[in-house]
Amino acid sequence: MHSLVREGIHRLTYSVPIPGAPEVNLYLFEGEESALIDTGPHVNAVYDEFREDLKAFGFDLRTLSKIVVTHAHLDHAGLAERIRNDSGAEVLIHHDDIDRFLVRPSWSAMWIRQHLWISRFWGFEQDQLVDLEHGMRKLIDLSPGVQGDWLPTSIAHDATIQLGHHPFRVIHCPGHSAGLICIVNEEEGLLLGSDHILETITPNPTVYVPTYRGCRTGLGHYLDSIHRVRDLAVEQILPGHGAPFTGLATRIDEMIRLYNDRHQTVHDLLLETDRTVLDLVDEIFPEQNLLGRYLAARELHGHLEILHHEGLIQHQIKEECGHFRAHPAPLHT
Ligand SMILES: [Zn+2]
Repeated sequence: MHSLVREGIHRLTYSVPIPGAPEVNLYLFEGEESALIDTGPHVNAVYDEFREDLKAFGFDLRTLSKIVVTHAHLDHAGLAERIRNDSGAEVLIHHDDIDRFLVRPSWSAMWIRQHLWISRFWGFEQDQLVDLEHGMRKLIDLSPGVQGDWLPTSIAHDATIQLGHHPFRVIHCPGHSAGLICIVNEEEGLLLGSDHILETITPNPTVYVPTYRGCRTGLGHYLDSIHRVRDLAVEQILPGHGAPFTGLATRIDEMIRLYNDRHQTVHDLLLETDRTVLDLVDEIFPEQNLLGRYLAARELHGHLEILHHEGLIQHQIKEECGHFRAHPAPLHT
């Protein structure tokens, strides 16, 4: 599906073949340095629809000069190699997401092994781990990375990149992914928010494999990096999922309140009794399917990691599964 955001900026929206996953947005900037932001999942039907959409508004893919991948998740990065091969465009991605973007076989094996180990730590049983592994292999197929003999260009925080007619600034916002970037032009009042700032969904914090900047999950980094974009002078946010929207600071404040409330809930539950991550999932996000419980566990592990850094909880490992409890509340005299 195609719509015009403003003159020379197109929004292209495609489905993602994972149950419950929202459609993903790509943005095409026309101009002297035409640029595509994100690529969609590696699915033939998505690629065909993308080519049809470009044809409908008369854009020749061979004139594309760059492909910017905002982070290396399958819905944003999956078709990067295919679009690069057909356009000759340069591919740019933040250096902290390059390993994940390349998807080398040895990296995939480690990624699956560590995710299964963490899932066991959260409390998933053996038969559920088998289903989770199956799902993880499917995710890798939807974003096969780099097969050919080329490498993406790495970009860093504060870099300037030309998108269409205007220069934009890169803001590194780790949390949903180690190398996620937002891209802003304050004169134009535009923020490409990727999955960092969405209007109705809170982005799921990543599980880092390997650990990143001393953390296992991205929630702590996410809560730091939403402050990096809160006060930008922008009128319109072009998100990775959902329609363009306004009200950046209001949306961020709303998310901070939600995370603070959840943080308090997790701490209160651990003051009552010992709990595993999945015990917390079933208290806070009841009646989820396997994928829903897995995603909820990632988020709650994030809260536990922050509570641990704050010195408020401890855990024990029994049969590879973590059991968490809060230190007793101090007595006020
Ligand atoms: Zn996404």
